[in-house]
Amino acid sequence: MRHPLEVWKFGGASLADAAAIRKAAELATGHPGPLVIVASALAGVTDLLLGGAHAAVSGDTRQASRVAAAFLVRHRKIARELLPAGAQRRALLAAIDAAAREYRELCAAVAVLGHLAPRASDMLVARGERMSATMLAAVLTASRRRAVYADALRIVATDDEHGGAAPDVAETTRRAQRVLRPLIAARRLPVVPGFIGTAPDGTVTTLGRGGSDLTATLLARALGARQVVLWKDVPGILTADPRLVPDARLIPHLHHREAAEVAHYGAKVLHSRALIPIAGTRIVLRVRSFIDTERPGTEVSARRSDQTHPVKALAIVRNQAIVTVAGKGMAGVHGIAARTFGAVDAERLSVSTIFQASSESSIGFTVPDAEAARAVRAVGGAFQGELASGLIDNVSARAGMAVIAVVGDGMVGTPGVAARVFSSLAAASLNVVAIAQGSSERNISLVVREADAPEAARRIHAAFQLSKIGGGRPLATPRTDVVFLGFGRVGRALADQIAGPNDPRIRVIGVLDRSGYVFEPRGLSGRRLQDLAREKDRGALVASLGGQAAPAGEALTLMASHAVSRPVVVDVTGDETGDLLRTALGHGFDLVLANKKPVAGSWESYASLMAASAAAGRTIRYEATVGAGLPIIDTYKKLVETGDRVLRIEGTVSGTLMYVVSAISAGKPFSTAVREAVAQGYAEPDPRDDLSGRDAARKVLILARLMGYRGPAPAPDDLTPPALRKLPLDQFLARLPEVDAEWAARTRREAARGRVLRYIVAATPRGVSARLIAVPADSPIGALHGTRNLISFTTTRYRKEPLIVSGPGAGAEVTAAGILNDIYSLSASAHGY
Ligand code: ADP
Ligand code: ASP
Ligand code: MG
Repeated sequence: MRHPLEVWKFGGASLADAAAIRKAAELATGHPGPLVIVASALAGVTDLLLGGAHAAVSGDTRQASRVAAAFLVRHRKIARELLPAGAQRRALLAAIDAAAREYRELCAAVAVLGHLAPRASDMLVARGERMSATMLAAVLTASRRRAVYADALRIVATDDEHGGAAPDVAETTRRAQRVLRPLIAARRLPVVPGFIGTAPDGTVTTLGRGGSDLTATLLARALGARQVVLWKDVPGILTADPRLVPDARLIPHLHHREAAEVAHYGAKVLHSRALIPIAGTRIVLRVRSFIDTERPGTEVSARRSDQTHPVKALAIVRNQAIVTVAGKGMAGVHGIAARTFGAVDAERLSVSTIFQASSESSIGFTVPDAEAARAVRAVGGAFQGELASGLIDNVSARAGMAVIAVVGDGMVGTPGVAARVFSSLAAASLNVVAIAQGSSERNISLVVREADAPEAARRIHAAFQLSKIGGGRPLATPRTDVVFLGFGRVGRALADQIAGPNDPRIRVIGVLDRSGYVFEPRGLSGRRLQDLAREKDRGALVASLGGQAAPAGEALTLMASHAVSRPVVVDVTGDETGDLLRTALGHGFDLVLANKKPVAGSWESYASLMAASAAAGRTIRYEATVGAGLPIIDTYKKLVETGDRVLRIEGTVSGTLMYVVSAISAGKPFSTAVREAVAQGYAEPDPRDDLSGRDAARKVLILARLMGYRGPAPAPDDLTPPALRKLPLDQFLARLPEVDAEWAARTRREAARGRVLRYIVAATPRGVSARLIAVPADSPIGALHGTRNLISFTTTRYRKEPLIVSGPGAGAEVTAAGILNDIYSLSASAHGY
């Protein structure tokens, strides 16, 4: 054979939609030598299938049916886009129908049982990979390459640990040779579903999340391939998860051993056991960019690796609990470690790290948070006697931890590595809960509090200058990928402003509304955005504009599963989006809000949003919630950063109310002023949201919270006539002239005293207010007109004469400008990837 055999795996993100599958097929067709292809499920499909099955367990079969329908629609659409009408397409569509139907039926059975055993779950979820591999084989065959679907169930032999099975290498080798060799010899291209296999009793198993990496290395070993290529939507293996460490860089080369450590500690880029089949062989593994297919990616091989960086990578495992067995009498108890891990093993718990204090008075290990209770029970059971006699004090778990593993071959024999890790953390006052040095001396792992993990990782990354690895080239032009939550007036104005100058730093990759989403990982074109905006103006919803129907949380999960760059969710809804925003933060999105509700609700919900952002190492900006385009929060922050103390913030914050009160001071009837504010697009859809003072109250609450105020929003002065508060909007507007005379009289009375009415809010660290007040007509606030707002900051430095920010304070355009400014600030603070 002229060319050596290679095994290629296409990850989920590389098989997201028709265009991606076509690209994968082209790559494979263009490769001259023999290939075996391993396919993951389409991006997000495994999560989707699992989600439906879990809903079914709790009796929600409607959700399971929705999932089956989504699965069907997504695969059918791709099949239609990729295959010409004909027998082949019909066969594929029939297979898709059958898979969706079976899924629905299995979920119905699960709902009746009220229980989802791992074996049932594996059977359900297997159709994700089987379907994508079937499609890819069909597409390849329809092009020039003769491909054939080769079912993993006939090839990959595993043990019976459903949900996380271990392969039987010898048996898999025999089967792979028997099934695949003849195909390769006949110049066929086998496409094998990743992730799945068969237990000795013939049932379907899965290799654990991310398992197609392992399928690929397993087949490479079984067939004696020269090289395994894992095509992913990251440039390769990076020095750290780029979502947590923005400075992360591509590692050009790692030794098998180093990559194994990175994988073992759960860096999502490689399945934890993916390196096991090829360790000690000459097989080269490459992790390559599916986006930029020219670049070489990371080589993992048996070659000695670059020794200039003793540390090469950090892996961060989140949501861990540390379980400790402690007691002063422990030194005298026989075989503590053996019994502890015997108990853990019997429960089949996956321990990631083991810690032993030098005093021998405690031993600890970490397990996923969700398994902590089970671990404590199992270990407690093993030491019942010692606990009763007091030789062991207790077995306990501490949740909310993260493990950071610092990995590199060069650590052996480089003195002071541990010291450097710990001093970098100490300098930032980050507390280390526990430490373990791996027996191989190729890694140091430490446990920190979950909330400290992103900062700790960034500190260690900097301490070892990991951003200089491989020449330190940033991974790509820094880009900020924007997802719109909501696409109303403000969203559309923002889309126009982004599309205008065509700035390569900012791309809109997704738009969500209540119907669903559109998503384009390579960026929606300016034209497409404008088309969407025009159709939305006519009342259409994005799901019907070439998008997909899905709940927003699911859409964000899908988008996050792609290698998006510095992703930002922009909330331009008027909804209670707190839960969704926390989901977004957890997926690594920064947030820019124009929506006040998430930051102006209860103190608890505000604090939990801020805590979620700190825990995820993300940033929230919300300038547009207060002053539309005016830099109010920004001014506040700059004052504080330079050591000033803000004592009081006061002024007008509602462009709408300003428009109304200044128009009536100029002699217009109240009803006319309100109607004009609506017609000009200054007011909320129902102007009573502004007139009631509720909107102004929210803004002042946001300002007061910056200053440390924890109390409730003020009870605002309400300008809506009490008799008209509950009427439908049209009747409200029709009857508004009833109050014109009263307002005119009041305005005249104040004018006679040289005063005008203004709606003024005030915030201090201890209180908030929102009132309609008469002020001197020649004061700065009295002289305002139109939608102009004015905010004054009284501070320690600006005590006698407050610092003033003033300008137009309402309208979609200026609000969009405020949001854009927040997006630019985020992108300016981003580095590299
Ligand atoms: P696949 O499509 O093959 O399943 P994955 O999505 O499992 O690929 O792996 C890529 C993801 O792993 C990236 O989105 C990235 O955020 C994450 N990741 C975590 N740690 C690293 C790292 N050290 N290097 C590269 N990617 C990482
Ligand atoms: N589709 C499976 C998962 O999402 C396996 C894989 O992608 O490797 O975990
Ligand atoms: Mg994966």
